[in-house]
Amino acid sequence: MNKKVVVFSQLDPEVLQRLQQQYHVVMIDPKQGDVNQQIREQVKDADGMIGAGRLLNQSNLANAQQLKIISSVSVGYDNYDLAYLNQQKIWLSNTPHVLTETTADLAFTLLMSAARKAPYLDHWTKQGQWKRTVGEAQFGQDVFGKTLGIIGLGNIGAAIARRAFHGFNMNILYHNRREKLELAQPLNARYCGLHELLQQSDFVVVAVDLNTESAALIGQQEFDQMQSHAVFVNIARGSVVDEQALINTLKAGKIFAAGLDVYLKEPLQESELFGLDNVVTLPHVGSATAETRKKMAELAYRNLVDALAGRTPPSLVNPSFS
Ligand code: NAP
Repeated sequence: MNKKVVVFSQLDPEVLQRLQQQYHVVMIDPKQGDVNQQIREQVKDADGMIGAGRLLNQSNLANAQQLKIISSVSVGYDNYDLAYLNQQKIWLSNTPHVLTETTADLAFTLLMSAARKAPYLDHWTKQGQWKRTVGEAQFGQDVFGKTLGIIGLGNIGAAIARRAFHGFNMNILYHNRREKLELAQPLNARYCGLHELLQQSDFVVVAVDLNTESAALIGQQEFDQMQSHAVFVNIARGSVVDEQALINTLKAGKIFAAGLDVYLKEPLQESELFGLDNVVTLPHVGSATAETRKKMAELAYRNLVDALAGRTPPSLVNPSFS
């Protein structure tokens, strides 16, 4: 009998079609009612799962009898209870590297547009407010040659740093739990403590993965360390930042601006952020280009197919019991 695969979010149509030709595919459909209830029901005899953006843990996976792999179409895997998956010997795979450059582009989009007030000025111009030469209220911040602090110099952090170093002649500081000499040396990036980074940077970009140590890493105390002309960018995960502290900081004008792709609660439907001119809010689109989403779907497909064929997938998060 065909192996059963549960698709738990939207998926690239070509990849979905291939899966349907190979396996018995069941789709979780929010229009059909409680998603977690559907998952609980469908995992009972599932061999694999593929998708993104859903919390998967003991409460909705406990019925799984023969689940071999969850193939996530994302690099971040904070939605999955890794300890539970390890205990149940369920593989978790992700899609690193293929989205690195695209997400770094998006980080720079946020950095530049917050620094130069691009969305605000676009709106302002279209509203017919451009009646004379612009004044101080429309001025932005220089980027070229400034200091960029990267919190989380990993794959994406390093790709952001390369853009900053080669394209904008920026001086780079970074903070990780461990020094990253190989990544840092070609970029002349200096390792430093979090508070030193916050105090000295003109631009701060958060690119950590969400884990127990990075959760709520940036709170009021951290925003208070930043310079009044600083621009703060978060492309990592909303939970890394105390969102209310950021809102208070922006409202009080204690930093120049922020550029955000991720939030505490997504999708962001109502927020005090919407009333602020000094924040650029994007809807979690770090990897959202047609080419990159295709590459991610292909890699997730490869991970799933390999696991179901008894091979070790190329991008396992938890290879310890392979
Ligand atoms: P990565 O290569 O694993 O890099 C993450 C870096 O964060 C590592 O170098 C890690 O270094 C550092 N880190 C982790 N915890 C830290 C802490 N408490 N303090 C300081 N540094 C810490 O991952 P990546 O591929 O660059 O992706 C990073 C994250 O970006 C993903 O996990 C995902 O959440 C997010 N992301 C968002 C989007 C989007 O659409 N906005 C797209 C892709 C990825 P140490 O272990 O040495 O600390």
